[in-house]
Amino acid sequence: MSNIPKIVILGAGYGGIMAAQRLQKELNYNEADVTLVSKHDYHYFTTHLHMPAAGTDAIDNARVSISKLVDEFKIDTVKSTVQEIRIEDKKVILEDGTLSYDYLVIGVGGEVETFGIPGMTENAFFIRSINSVRVICEHIEHQFALYKQDETRADRLNFVVGGAGFTGIEFVGELSDRIPQLCKQFDVDPSLVNIYNIEAAPTALPGFDPALVEYAMNVLKKKGVTFKLATAIKECTPEGVLLATDEEIKAATVVWTGGVRGNSMIEKAGIEAMRGRVKVDEHLRAPGHDNIFIVGDNSLVINPEIDRPYPPTAQMAMQQGPVVASNIVASIRNQPLKKFTYENKGTVASLGKGQAIGVVGKTKLTGFWAAQLKKVIDIRWLFIIGGFSLAFKKGKFF
Ligand code: FAD
Ligand code: NAD
Repeated sequence: MSNIPKIVILGAGYGGIMAAQRLQKELNYNEADVTLVSKHDYHYFTTHLHMPAAGTDAIDNARVSISKLVDEFKIDTVKSTVQEIRIEDKKVILEDGTLSYDYLVIGVGGEVETFGIPGMTENAFFIRSINSVRVICEHIEHQFALYKQDETRADRLNFVVGGAGFTGIEFVGELSDRIPQLCKQFDVDPSLVNIYNIEAAPTALPGFDPALVEYAMNVLKKKGVTFKLATAIKECTPEGVLLATDEEIKAATVVWTGGVRGNSMIEKAGIEAMRGRVKVDEHLRAPGHDNIFIVGDNSLVINPEIDRPYPPTAQMAMQQGPVVASNIVASIRNQPLKKFTYENKGTVASLGKGQAIGVVGKTKLTGFWAAQLKKVIDIRWLFIIGGFSLAFKKGKFF
C-alpha cells in the first residue's frame, strides 16, 4: 500500500473544483493521492439554476461533466454521496464505501434553511441542484396543463416565491419571462397568472443598494411580479402559504428562497460550526484541525470592515479553492501556509432577459450593461474551469 499523503475533496462545486484543479497543477508526480468525491458526475453552476428552474434555459447549460474539468490521471473521481465524516478515524463514510484521508477539503455546499417554518420542507420546492430545479420546471408546466382541465382551480396559476433575497429575485425575473410563453402554449389568459414574491424584511434584497433595489422592483413589477414586503411566511401548506398577517395565499407552487445554511454533516462530525458553517482560520482550516480545510458555503469568513461574516457566494468559494490547495501542498512540504484574503469583485443580479442590477467597486449598473456584465461573469467561470472550449460551448454571448 502506498504511504504518500491522501487528500480527499468532498464536493465538486465552485470551491471543490478549484481546489482539485490547483492541486493537479501544483503537486509533483506521486507526491500525494487526490480523490474528488461528489454526489453527481457533473459540476453544476448553482449560480445559473434559477434559469432551468423557470424553464428559460436548458438544464445542460448549467452543468458540465467532471471528467472534462479534471485530469483523471492525476485525480481519482468518485461519484458517491458522503454520509458521515469520522474525524477521529480520518475517514469519510460514503453511501457505498469508505475513504481514508490525511488531508480533507470539505466543500459540499449549503443546505436550505427553513427556520423550522411548519410545512416548508414538505410542501415547498427549492432551487438547490440540477435535480431539484428539473422538478420545479416540470411542476410549473404541469400546473398549466392541469388548469386547462379544471379551470375552477385558480390556485394552479398562482406562484409564491418565499424570500426576496438574490435567489428569489433572480428566480421571479426568469419566471415572469417564462409565463407569457406558457400562457401561449396552454391557451391561458396571462391576466389570470399571479407571481407573489414575499419578503419578511421591509425591503427586497435587504442590505443592498436602495436605488438598485428600487430599480429591480420596478422592472419586476412591470413584468407582473407582486411584492409583499415586511410580511413573513409563517406556514406552508399543501394549499399554499399562510402569512404572519394571517392572510392565506392559495398557490399550487411555492418555491422557498428564504435562506441557506451550511451542511449539517459538519456539525454531526463534531466540527465547531454556526448553522453548519465553520469559522475557518486565516489559512481556511477548521479550528483545532490542521488537516481539515473548508471552502465555500461550508465556511464562514469574517469581513474585517464590518466584523460580520461575508455572505456565502460562488465568488468566495472560487477564491478559497486555490488557497486551500496551495496550503495542503505547503503542509505536505512543511512550508509556510498562505493567508486567505477575500477580494470582493462586485455583485450582479439578473432580473430576467436583458435586465440586471449590479455594483462593481463604486460603480452602479442597471439594465442592459448590468445584464452584459452578468454574462461576462458567467463566461469567466466557464473559462477558468474549462478554458476557451467550455466558454464557447456553454457561454451565452448574446
Ligand atoms: P456548491 O457549488 O453548492 O457545490 C457543492 C457540491 O457538493 C456539489 O457538487 C454537490 O453535488 C456536492 N455535494 C453536496 N452534498 C454532497 C454529499 N453529501 N456527498 C457528496 N457530494 C455532495 N453566488 C455568486 O457569487 N454569484 C451569483 O451570481 C450567485 N447566484 C446564485 C444563484 C442561485 C439561484 C443560487 C441558489 C445561488 C447563487 N449564488 C451565487 C451562491 C453560490 O451558488 C454558492 O455560494 C456556491 O455555489 C457555493 O459553492 P460551494 O463550492 O460551497 O458549493
Ligand atoms: P438570502 O438569505 O440572501 O435571502 C433570503 C431572503 O428571505 C431574505 O431577504 C430574508 O429576509 C427572507 N426571508 C427569510 N425568512 C422569511 C420568511 N419567513 N418569509 C418571507 N421572507 C423570508 O438567501 P438567498 O437569496 O438564497 O442567497 C443565498 C446566498 O447566495 C447569499 O449569500 C447570496 O448573496 C448568494 N446569491 C448571490 C446571487 C448573486 O450574486 N447574483 C444570487 C443568488 C444568491
